[in-house]
Amino acid sequence: MSSSPDVTADVVDPASVPFRVLTGGARMPAVGMGTFGSDRYSTAQVAEAVRGALEVGYRLIDCAAVYGNEPEIGRVFADAFADRVVERDDLFVMSKLWNDSHGAEGVATSVRRTLTDLGLEHLDGYFVHWPFPNHHPPAADPDARDPHARPYLHDEFMETWQAMERLVDEGLVRHIGTSNVTVPKLRLILRDARIRPSLNEMELHPCFQQPELFDLCVAEGVQPVGYSPLGSPSRPERDRTPGDHVDTEHPAVVAAAQAHGVHPALVCLKWAVQRGQVPIPFAVKRPQYVSNLQTVTTDPLTDAEMAALREADQGDRLIKGQVFLWPGSESWEDLWDLDGTITTGAAR
Ligand code: NDP
Repeated sequence: MSSSPDVTADVVDPASVPFRVLTGGARMPAVGMGTFGSDRYSTAQVAEAVRGALEVGYRLIDCAAVYGNEPEIGRVFADAFADRVVERDDLFVMSKLWNDSHGAEGVATSVRRTLTDLGLEHLDGYFVHWPFPNHHPPAADPDARDPHARPYLHDEFMETWQAMERLVDEGLVRHIGTSNVTVPKLRLILRDARIRPSLNEMELHPCFQQPELFDLCVAEGVQPVGYSPLGSPSRPERDRTPGDHVDTEHPAVVAAAQAHGVHPALVCLKWAVQRGQVPIPFAVKRPQYVSNLQTVTTDPLTDAEMAALREADQGDRLIKGQVFLWPGSESWEDLWDLDGTITTGAAR
């Protein structure tokens, strides 16, 4: 039995947390804190968790305008700076452009709204949340459809991307990123970008490893950021499908958890950091978010455990995004270009 993290310690020295070096040289913590309350946790609960996270040593926070809690998180940042819990320069803050704000004007307005809400002068990372301008009301029914929704249109996306590039020119954003893209979409964006994405946020957990997209990111110097790294056990009903795999019950995850004397969720995080993505687990419960940070600073998985976990991939996407489908398209698979080419219309 190998040694376990010191569960009596409630604080992690941020200097002990591994980091990634982005193209251009900036350092990014190798694990961060998510802030999507999954329609289950209130903005106040999420904000309190962010305060706790900063206190225990997190230095990477993943926000988004659509999560509806940036003003509350901004107040947490202001208090934490005033209380000298953390200095702005030691924090890596990311946010995301929502789907209803694509286009030059939408980007310029949205980033300023987010900066005002978060009380910051710049963002360290800013993502295009989805590569479509298709949106839905908060807490939408899975069958809800935006009548104006459309498939990925590269020229239209690049107009949005050029507006993201201007944010870097203006010093409002340090790194720009894609999210929820596929291999063929990312290849086109890399081909045509003046400022290439530094980051790509994508669903990544042991049962859904996206090896081809992950390898493309690594080969192109794009840092993968892994969302739903624990298999999103508290995700909204609209993101639940019969037959979805449960990462924390997979035999390879459970075996490693037993060997290390930790919760299976922590094996998912050790695996993520050792593989090379930056996981951004969400938690409002202090023991959870403390252990999520501690676990990546100690007691790594063995090569044999990493090899066994590589075999855990089921190709099983949890966040299917069906509310972003366009009229005439019936399957969520059209969002994900499963045959390797970009689906440009009603394919079935
Ligand atoms: P996660 O995989 O991070 O799961 C979060 C849930 O896991 C928590 O609510 C908690 O459940 C449980 N949990 C957390 N820590 C532990 C632990 N140590 N032991 C046991 N259970 C634990 O899923 P998310 O979907 O929340 O993803 C994380 C973040 O990724 C989001 O908050 C968001 O920032 C980002 N994201 C980005 C997306 C994008 O499109 N770019 C899409 C989805 C997420 P419980 O509260 O029930 O205990």
